[in-house]
Amino acid sequence: MNKSSLVAALAGALLFGSGASAQTDDASQESLAFTRQIAVDGTIAGSLEASTATAGVPAAAMVEALQAFATSIDLGREVGDGDRFHVRYEQTFTVTGTPIGTGRVVWAELRTTAKGTLAIHRFRTRDGAELFWLANGQGATPPAMRLPVEIVSISSGFGLRADPFGQPPPPPTAGKSGAMGGPLRTPPALPPGLKPGTITGEKPLSSYGGASSYGRSTPGYAAPGGLNGGNWQHAPRVTRSLFMHEGVDLVAPTGTPVRAAADGVVIGAAPNGRYGNWIRIDHAGKLATVYGHLSGFAPGIVAGTKVSRGDVIGFVGSTGRSTGAHLHFELLADGKPVNPITHPETKRSVLRGPDLDRLRKQVAHSLAERDREAAVEASFRN
Ligand SMILES: [Zn+2]
Repeated sequence: MNKSSLVAALAGALLFGSGASAQTDDASQESLAFTRQIAVDGTIAGSLEASTATAGVPAAAMVEALQAFATSIDLGREVGDGDRFHVRYEQTFTVTGTPIGTGRVVWAELRTTAKGTLAIHRFRTRDGAELFWLANGQGATPPAMRLPVEIVSISSGFGLRADPFGQPPPPPTAGKSGAMGGPLRTPPALPPGLKPGTITGEKPLSSYGGASSYGRSTPGYAAPGGLNGGNWQHAPRVTRSLFMHEGVDLVAPTGTPVRAAADGVVIGAAPNGRYGNWIRIDHAGKLATVYGHLSGFAPGIVAGTKVSRGDVIGFVGSTGRSTGAHLHFELLADGKPVNPITHPETKRSVLRGPDLDRLRKQVAHSLAERDREAAVEASFRN
């Protein structure tokens, strides 16, 4: 018997954790069902997925945990043979010991050569959401929305920028002061790995030119061929050579797959003026995303198509009003353009305050429990 199966057997025998919990809502045998927590240790040979399955962790229970780990480590490249894992999962059994359901991972730890120790902990926040978190309070659940290409760089961010088709950029004073008064703010910090581009600034839309500048077309619904129907609108009271750039430009080679940022329904996929080949997808929560300058559409992507997050919807190109291959990407919240890089939907959540304190206590408790169990295991061996 190898070590992992020994530990699994011991853990199973010791009834760690929550112990028996009778359920009263069913008169069948399930009324005597009980839930126990089972701890498994092992060494990776092949993949983490295969190794935990070999050690007895139900594959279905690991799916969520693997996704959580994948937010912080490359499971293919940074986890390999000889790395160690610890998985503690919860499984419900019938009174005769048959597992019910898939089980769920409570917490798990990886000890890797490449990236050191990494752990995910299932934790319920005060607002009632139960998700995986890293021990430092960073969310280990992928954000609801992803960026649509594996980004090489952002060539132009959200906010005012010089018109690449117009006159040369204004002298620094014009750009700095802004005709609406008040300095333009520094662009927001970009996620790791992103290079700051030629972002000229970011301000609430209401600061620029008033509602009339933005209210005369529906964002993302530019009339085909129309020069004023898109989201590139002059901000006339600022200066003729600046545009409000209501999205981000993500630089990638022509042909790079463009993926749906989140689950949704394709509202349009067609040539559309300055946007060139254009797609709009509507998502839950009054969110919509817009993709411009595509070289082409993925098969089956037409108005009405349902898409899932990550589905390929088209390919990077330079159609429409574009100076080179890139994806113009917009995020609309309730019809209004928002910065897709800094919007909460695309950001990982981070625990703060009382939630973070409680997570830290839970983590400390879990580690102490694991150490106690390891001591029990050692005493069985001696
Ligand atoms: Zn753009």
